Amino acid sequence: MKIVESIIKMLTGKEEITLASVQEVPEGTCPNCWGRDEYSGAFYNAAKAQGLNGNNIGAHVGWVQEYANKNFSKIAIVSDGDSLGCKNCNMKG
Ligand SMILES: [Zn+2]
Repeated sequence: MKIVESIIKMLTGKEEITLASVQEVPEGTCPNCWGRDEYSGAFYNAAKAQGLNGNNIGAHVGWVQEYANKNFSKIAIVSDGDSLGCKNCNMKG
């Protein structure tokens, strides 16, 4: 699953975007990096500023995609030979 789809799935149905609603790690991202304020916290602030919530996320897919491509591609779990890992923090999965 792509990070974008995973984020959309995570937020769909949520009445309001809260810090707690972005604590769940989107599938395909590094839990280690996602848990840091610079990622989940920054996403929360950006989503909030965008007026995003689980009911209107369908209208903001383009924004989510752009945000994820710009900010989350470096914390994506990627295959590194025979193991999976995160290039940002070097965590091995
Ligand atoms: Zn990481």
